[in-house]
Amino acid sequence: MRKRALVVGLGIAGMSAASGLRRAGWAPVITERAPERRTGGYFINLTPEGMRAVDDLGLDTLHTRNPERGTTWSLNRRGHRRPALGWLDLPGRPTAMVRGDVEAALWQRIRPDGGSGESGVEVRFSTAPVEIVGDGTVVEVELEDVSTGRRSRESFDLVVGADGLRSTVRSLAFGPHERFMTTWNAMICAFSLPGQAPSSGAQDSLISARSGGAVWVSGLADRAPTALLTYCAKDVGAQFTGDRTERLRDVFADMDHPAVRHVLDALPTTTDCLFDSVHQVKMDRWSTGGSCSPATRRGA
Ligand SMILES: Cc1cc2nc3c(=O)[nH]c(=O)nc-3n(C[C@H](O)[C@H](O)[C@H](O)COP(=O)(O)OP(=O)(O)OC[C@H]3O[C@@H](n4cnc5c(N)ncnc54)[C@H](O)[C@@H]3O)c2cc1C
Repeated sequence: MRKRALVVGLGIAGMSAASGLRRAGWAPVITERAPERRTGGYFINLTPEGMRAVDDLGLDTLHTRNPERGTTWSLNRRGHRRPALGWLDLPGRPTAMVRGDVEAALWQRIRPDGGSGESGVEVRFSTAPVEIVGDGTVVEVELEDVSTGRRSRESFDLVVGADGLRSTVRSLAFGPHERFMTTWNAMICAFSLPGQAPSSGAQDSLISARSGGAVWVSGLADRAPTALLTYCAKDVGAQFTGDRTERLRDVFADMDHPAVRHVLDALPTTTDCLFDSVHQVKMDRWSTGGSCSPATRRGA
């Protein structure tokens, strides 16, 4: 009988882990807390190493979005701009996409029927672990349907925590977040823009940076650009209180540029926003009694 693995989280890490486990002869089950698969997401660029991982994973349907034209502009406080180097000018000529492109290709890999039929990896939405007890040979997991609160117990040979920065698997199997998360006193906010900033070419990228904060607009080939705001914050906890847009308007009040205003004006209506603090997860070991926690997250 094939060994059973529970993979918690339907992001890049979870689907990659499930795909690899399946290839190695395991029967993985993915649980995802959200009610459905997310799409969209922020701009990411893959270095040649990342593209090698794409090949290894067999992601032949990956959609990439390097702009065929377009310039990266650096904006100054007086509203002037000059050509600059952007992410895609990094050595190795990175490949551009949004997070959802990688997830869509992985989904295709683990659910070749598009999710409608029985083939591929089993995926359970609205499901999260609430208890994990492992003795090194078998892992007993209590799972909760987060929409109904109904709980059930199941045994697995392995549990993989691929549930992001604030991993429930890590906290259940290893201990509270505070033991492992060091803060970098920095915040990020990343989301898709409805359209390009005024007076910019459709595929242009823009950077407005000063000490302690930056606003990036990343132009892409066949979709609207994405925005990334980064800033330093002494009190990270306070950043999560009050109105997010007002806070960011305050932080970037000294960047009175039409492109920055365009980004901030788009924020209240976005449905696809990552606003989070930046941490590094440090652990002496990444597995215990049949549970493990992959570290894939760069930045936040
Ligand atoms: C702004 C930004 C830019 C980035 N740029 C790049 C880049 O240029 N190149 C690059 O290689 N990487 C980049 N990264 C990093 C990359 O995007 C991440 O490493 C990757 O998306 C993380 O995937 P993940 O699956 O580990 O976690 P996540 O994407 O966080 O997915 C976790 C999943 O687990 C689910 N989940 C959470 N809790 C539970 C629970 N209790 N039970 C069940 N499910 C749960 C969540 O709903 C989610 O679906 C960037 C990251 C950010 C934030």
